[in-house]
Amino acid sequence: MILACDLVVQNGWRELRPADPRVIELSSLLQRMPLHPPAVRGLKFRNPNGVARKTVDLVTSHPGYDGKRTKGGKIDREVLHDFLTRPEEMQAVAREIRAGIEDGSFERLPETLDADSGDAVEASEGRLLARRYFARERNPRLREKKINAFVKQHGRVFCEVCGFDFEATYGTRGASYIECHHAVPLHMSGETTTRLRDLVLLCANCHRMIHRGSTWLTPAELLAIVRTE
Ligand SMILES: [Zn+2]
Ligand SMILES: [Zn+2]
Repeated sequence: MILACDLVVQNGWRELRPADPRVIELSSLLQRMPLHPPAVRGLKFRNPNGVARKTVDLVTSHPGYDGKRTKGGKIDREVLHDFLTRPEEMQAVAREIRAGIEDGSFERLPETLDADSGDAVEASEGRLLARRYFARERNPRLREKKINAFVKQHGRVFCEVCGFDFEATYGTRGASYIECHHAVPLHMSGETTTRLRDLVLLCANCHRMIHRGSTWLTPAELLAIVRTE
């Protein structure tokens, strides 16, 4: 729905026809999504007709539309509302979802990435974004680069917020253990490249505290509330 609405926005809030190349492209993209495996869906699943019909629902749900409205669903209206109230963020979400389908990162991820982050990501776009977000944090190549750069500078790894050193506490079992946090939320960065300086090394506790609740903290905000006494 987010991708269909994004298309409608790009088309100046006008519906698109099934033969439109952008509709055909979106249809094939949606058919590649792992959320509904081919085995459990119908032959017409997300076909160009369905996608085009969705653009009609979205257009006629727009508050400024004065023609006859089609019977769109609750999700249509919610997504439409989100696009009207925070267009840039929603466009960034759409880009991330697209990128996630294209690079297969939704497929590689387990259903629940972080049991405790559920409350932080109630909205469906939030769940998809969070998947992309955590996938980025777990990108082994980026992790390795970040950790190598950090070790080069500090000689060892430790939490950048509280200073916790897993090896100092757990001995060899904790040696070189650290979690990698991406400090710029996807919809804020709005881009698919992650710079090393956007990554922060955190202990498991600090990392969990950053992602807890409906608003994720920045490392600096967490640092400000950590009680050191
Ligand atoms: Zn910490
Ligand atoms: Zn994180």
